[in-house]
Amino acid sequence: MSLENSDQTTRPAADPLVLGRRIRHARTARGMTLRELASAVGSTTSQLSLVENGRREPRLSLLTAIAETLGTTAADLLTPAPPPDRRAALEIALEQAQRGPLFASLGAPAVRPGRRLPLDALESLVALHAELERRARATIATPEEARRINTELRLEMQSHDNYVPEIETLAEEQVRAVGYTGGALTHHMVAQMAERLGFTIIHVDDLPHSTRTVTDLENGRIYLPPASIPGGYGLRSLALQAMAHRLFGHQRPASYGDFLRQRQQIAYFTACCLVPRFAAQTFLEGKKAEKDLAMEDFRDAFGITHHSAAQRFTNLATALMGIPTHFIRANDDGAMYRGYANDGVPLPADATGAIEGQPLCRRWAARSAFARRNRSTEYFQYTDTPAGTYWCSTQTGSGRDSEFSITLGVPFAHAKWFRGRETTRRAASSCPDESCCRRPAEAVAARWQDRSWPSAAMHAHVLSPLPAGTFPGVDDVELYDFLERHAPTAD
Ligand SMILES: [Zn+2]
Repeated sequence: MSLENSDQTTRPAADPLVLGRRIRHARTARGMTLRELASAVGSTTSQLSLVENGRREPRLSLLTAIAETLGTTAADLLTPAPPPDRRAALEIALEQAQRGPLFASLGAPAVRPGRRLPLDALESLVALHAELERRARATIATPEEARRINTELRLEMQSHDNYVPEIETLAEEQVRAVGYTGGALTHHMVAQMAERLGFTIIHVDDLPHSTRTVTDLENGRIYLPPASIPGGYGLRSLALQAMAHRLFGHQRPASYGDFLRQRQQIAYFTACCLVPRFAAQTFLEGKKAEKDLAMEDFRDAFGITHHSAAQRFTNLATALMGIPTHFIRANDDGAMYRGYANDGVPLPADATGAIEGQPLCRRWAARSAFARRNRSTEYFQYTDTPAGTYWCSTQTGSGRDSEFSITLGVPFAHAKWFRGRETTRRAASSCPDESCCRRPAEAVAARWQDRSWPSAAMHAHVLSPLPAGTFPGVDDVELYDFLERHAPTAD
């Protein structure tokens, strides 16, 4: 490890610790004692000692006096420059590491990085602290890393049409072993599957808040939240996910990427159990032959949510029936929450290729479906895009704090297999071209941009970038539209 590259030494010298060390270095270089310096600048030894140890920041007037006495300038002392020598750099690094929360969490005694500490011991301690820090960071991801890893996983799944035959086969074996032949997988079957793996499912009402399930490997128990909703979809899913960790032999994730990959595997396995491939194939091919494919029927046949049905359809449609697809979960604020496409539909993406949180075209079914009054059935729409025409089926629903839409779309040529293909709704979208729907009409913008003051809502989920309008975080097309609607009329 190169100390010069660690961020502990490249911080600006405004760091009181670095400043303090620099003052001490300049003082000892001139052979001055702390007492001598204190009397020269009209301060006290205890005050200066605090400054030199980085525990107090000197006022500029004191700093200027110190600098003059030591034959340098305040600016020099404050200039970000490498610490005076190797030893000083190491002492600063050790001091900083020992002041951090990571070291505090160890409950270990601190070492005073004084003169009596040999240089090689100092080198070794600093290297150990740096490695400890690196390991701690490896399991924490910044939102940027999370987005990047998420994008990698999505593109990897897309490269094999969102289909993983090995997991499909593993899940088929598991459900067949407990007598599953078709339709919804029952709770009873899930419990039997757990038993075959040597687990008992136990419902408790005191799970730690930060967990969804807990598995006791020693005693073979899977703890789940209370079975408050009999037949609740969520509980089957939680139990299956807990079992999947065991089936895949997952080890403690070493990085955030590992963690997400494991999540993706257990989610895929769970989907394969709730909608086993052989049962889904029989069902879907039958519907396709009748030209009556519908997400709502697929959902109802297997007792799963609309979200799960549409997502599961993307696993199987291309591999088993040669139908390319796209899937979008959007929020009523117009942002995409999840997305997948292998049919070439131009999903909005940021510069890194991440799609989560990106604003969707206003003309797409995933957004226009929100405008509908009667939302009990699916909404169908054809949309012309720069990449071709797509047919989409959208179902809206209400979540805890917002409404959402689930869309399953296919290229025009494949619409013929679906119920709803006869719709006459057709929209044209030229997104990502801004003139499509992202730019307010010039007259409206001219009227309002200097005559309004919106207060931006904070986005709840970190994956969302802020919509870029005139005001950070505010969608100005919607804002001006609102103002136009509510403005008093001139008469
Ligand atoms: Zn658009």
